[in-house]
Amino acid sequence: MTYSMKDTLSETLAATVQEKRVIGKLLGREDGPTLVFFGGIHGNEPAGVKALQRVFEKMNQGGHQPAGNVYGLVGNLQALEQGKRFIASDLNRMWHSPPLDGAPAMDGAEAAEMQALHRYIGKVLDTHRPPFYFIDLHTTSSRTLPFITINDALINRKFAQCFPVPVILGIEEYLNGPLLSYMNEKGYLGIGFESGQHEEEAAVTLAESFIWMALVRAGAFNRGDVPGYDEHFRQLRQAAEGYHRFYEITYRHFLEPGDSFSMFPGFQSFQKVSPGTQLATYNGKPIRLDREETLFMPLYQKQGEDGYFLIRSIPAFLLALSELLRRVKLEGLLPLLPGISRLPGNPGKLLVNLRWTPFLSKQFFHLLGYRHRYLEGKIAILNNRERTARKHEYQDCSWYRGIFRNFRKACP
Ligand SMILES: [Zn+2]
Repeated sequence: MTYSMKDTLSETLAATVQEKRVIGKLLGREDGPTLVFFGGIHGNEPAGVKALQRVFEKMNQGGHQPAGNVYGLVGNLQALEQGKRFIASDLNRMWHSPPLDGAPAMDGAEAAEMQALHRYIGKVLDTHRPPFYFIDLHTTSSRTLPFITINDALINRKFAQCFPVPVILGIEEYLNGPLLSYMNEKGYLGIGFESGQHEEEAAVTLAESFIWMALVRAGAFNRGDVPGYDEHFRQLRQAAEGYHRFYEITYRHFLEPGDSFSMFPGFQSFQKVSPGTQLATYNGKPIRLDREETLFMPLYQKQGEDGYFLIRSIPAFLLALSELLRRVKLEGLLPLLPGISRLPGNPGKLLVNLRWTPFLSKQFFHLLGYRHRYLEGKIAILNNRERTARKHEYQDCSWYRGIFRNFRKACP
């Protein structure tokens, strides 16, 4: 990573702030994995920060020595102190490669936060050897069972299925500039974990269980070295009982600045909603569903640009098929088709004229690891996560080996 952004903090202030940002840091064997956990990227979501504090306290008391390195970082320090999602702009919608990897300075509270985080991540990457794991802890404004969100690359998928909770794929088509998309673009594994509703105590305990499981799954600790490991696993499994599968997002209700949106009370993530049910009031008009849908992340706070999402589960055979197609690199043949070419200078992106490819559905591109990002009329730019993923850095990890390992096998 390069750091051409202009410093907006003085050196001394930056040092003090950086000290507060580090919840914990535990260095162990250099040939092991390095895990970087983030809590409070959204300042009104303290559960991840509390969970990380608990884990580091226990690791320090127990004299735990990881086979690798563990970092716990606060995302948005200033917003966390004020209990707000953000101050000037959402810190989880700002991670765009061009400004970060060489461009002009940015302004606002969150620009300084991002700059400090970016610098810290760069240091971690320079100091240690792969594999790296970036894990971002969140909570939601509505009630929810715990779940994972990932960008759809095999490294993310295969690590995500080590946990007994639902996995939501492809959120990157709908969100602009989240931290984990940036880390994925750099080729690293990134997993988002939503542990519950913002202020619930269960959101802290489930985040703690998730952190311990991630440490063990990545190989930083042996199962036997973590007191109560089986209990952590059991708690997560129980909280998400019946929903342990992959889902994809089919719809996002986007809110423009100035829109008025009010969700009806009582809805929660993963709730099945029947046709005709009134979900919300949007700019004075009722929103009703015309068929049965599964609701995801309904908005119950003032700040935020997503009213709600709809999801559906992905059949297991499609997941297996897409893994096979990606492993044999079928996507390499796509530019031979009319209307499809590689984006010059960026082999991970395809330029597709959809007029020429009516026979290829969005689902087909998804199978091969492509996600739509920018659309101008009939021209789409498709982003392939597999091309950028540093698969070779994860190929020896136990969770990566073996094609078609389903949840049950990967998750004893
Ligand atoms: Zn969040």
